[in-house]
Amino acid sequence: MEVGAATVAAVALKQESALASEQRESPTKLAPTAFVALPLGQIRPAGWLRRQLRIQADGLSGHLDEFWPDVGPQSGWLGGPGESWERGPYFVDGLLPLAWLLDDERLKAKVMRFIDWTLNHQAPSGMIGPAGNDDWWPRMVMLKVLAQYHDATTDPRVLPVLTRYFRYQLSALPARPLVDWGKYRWQDEVLVVEWLYERTGDASLLRLARLLEQQGYDWIEAFANFKHSGVTSGAEIKAATSRGDRSKAMETHGVNNGQALKTAAIRYRLSGDATVEEGNFKRQLATLDRFHGMPNGMFSCDEHLAGLDPSHGTELCTVVETLYSLEVAFATFGIASIGDRIEKIAYNALPGTFDDDMWSHQYDQQSNQILVGLNSKPWTTNGPESNLYGLEPNFGCCTANFHQGWPKFTSSLWMSSPDGGLVASLYAPCEVETIVSGEDVSLCVETNYPFRQDVRIVLSPKNPVSFPLRLRIPAWARGATVRINGQLEAVETSPETFALIHRLWSPGDVVDLHLPMVPSVSRWFNHSVMLMRGPLVFSLDPGQSWVKLRDRGLTADWQVYPLKSWNYALLVDESSAAQIEVIESLIGPKPFAAKAVAVKLRVSGCLINAWRSEDGVAGPLPNGVQTSSLPSQTLDLIPYGAAKLRITAFPQVRAEDESGV
Ligand SMILES: [Zn+2]
Repeated sequence: MEVGAATVAAVALKQESALASEQRESPTKLAPTAFVALPLGQIRPAGWLRRQLRIQADGLSGHLDEFWPDVGPQSGWLGGPGESWERGPYFVDGLLPLAWLLDDERLKAKVMRFIDWTLNHQAPSGMIGPAGNDDWWPRMVMLKVLAQYHDATTDPRVLPVLTRYFRYQLSALPARPLVDWGKYRWQDEVLVVEWLYERTGDASLLRLARLLEQQGYDWIEAFANFKHSGVTSGAEIKAATSRGDRSKAMETHGVNNGQALKTAAIRYRLSGDATVEEGNFKRQLATLDRFHGMPNGMFSCDEHLAGLDPSHGTELCTVVETLYSLEVAFATFGIASIGDRIEKIAYNALPGTFDDDMWSHQYDQQSNQILVGLNSKPWTTNGPESNLYGLEPNFGCCTANFHQGWPKFTSSLWMSSPDGGLVASLYAPCEVETIVSGEDVSLCVETNYPFRQDVRIVLSPKNPVSFPLRLRIPAWARGATVRINGQLEAVETSPETFALIHRLWSPGDVVDLHLPMVPSVSRWFNHSVMLMRGPLVFSLDPGQSWVKLRDRGLTADWQVYPLKSWNYALLVDESSAAQIEVIESLIGPKPFAAKAVAVKLRVSGCLINAWRSEDGVAGPLPNGVQTSSLPSQTLDLIPYGAAKLRITAFPQVRAEDESGV
């Protein structure tokens, strides 16, 4: 009997594994995601976030096409003789959600020129885009644009154009396979292929998804046997490239790695194997953190993987692409801690690399950034202008691509769950109007998070309706509480989970979420200390003197010089961090401006005279606990995003009276 049972089990297992393998080779359906993003337009920014998006719209995003030819009227993506590659699609990939989130008719009109041209000029073969090149890569970006546009408008032109394009590509790829950027960024296209399959059920789309994966670079295997653990050598990249070998340049390229963080999520939908692909995602992120992690939540890439020294830089394209990949991974796997990482990047690395008005940006930002100027040269392969704040420092890709950062973050604040519920994924002030269990539900998130620790959600269903509400509890929030209409709710609020409340919701119900924000220390390069409170990273701002280098059309390129000393060590460690004084002030009209920061941490520090500037960057970070005979001083640390010059990873110093013990 036992043998028989075992045989039956073995046969069943074999059949199951054959089915799984068949599904992998030739998928017949897509595995469901944990959560689903709400269609563009159902979430509207409010409060400080609305001001931030308005700053973006009034800055470079809303005016770039008026003076930067690459996205101007001559663009190949408008039928002109100008730039016909990635810049037009990059620009619209961010301008489109920005325009719809703000419901801004002026911006929508700018977007529609690119959309209409693309939809109305499909070749008889099915090819889209400028005839001047046939590179698959820039089209991958425009596909993302068209999917967002359909989500926002349901324009009936979109699905047929995408269907014809994908059929054309399925027939053309065997003879003209993915190469170069497209080969390393295939997962962005599969995301749209999967999106279209959910709307049309066209089985050829799953064959296309598999073919793209087969022709694309195998990021999962690359991270199972990771080869790029050190600082990439610029000389090596140059030598290999001159021999015609671009593989190392592509594998260590920061933007490629940021985009690749969605690979496991894409594969899960095809294979249905959540355990394997969640593991692949976690290994990929943990490997980048271990060898290239930066205190601001990103990894170093200037513009190739650059190790752990916080004087190394991170390219802005990589910031916004990593955010988008993590937003996809969060929705796919429903892992709470991915939300923590999205907030860490969006609330620190993203604002920290723009001026307050978003009229200028950097190519490379540094966690320890003591000077913005032409003499900063820690970069692996980038040029001397890389950390200027300007129109197109070093290279114009980020100028075209940065626009998606804040808008796609805003679009990911709330999601739906397959059990007919809503998920508070990320926290920021916003309004949501959606349909839950067939009922119109609107809700309003009133909060000054991430500068404050309370989030109030006011629900206004048209009629009372029962549904599960999930609230993400960040890893740092110990002792989080939920009140409903003033009454403490008995609900599990462990860090890195979702508090789940399933009840009948009535108009005017109020959910108050308290997320205790206690200052904490974490350790980085050379045992340095970094301070956080909630999702905000804190930095020392040595003062900022902005000196114009040159005018650039409607904007300018800027150098920034420190006004005071930056070379401090902090009298703080893991045991004392929780006692650090927190000073809260009103949130200014520009949420991330150094002139009026919403929150500060008051700490003690000592100057370390031996720690000096070397060619515009902080010299080697003193390793281990320092001693100083100089008196300690009170220092106010401000949010990383406001400190356009900054020290973020500090040496630790021991107080004089402890040093002799
Ligand atoms: Zn870039």
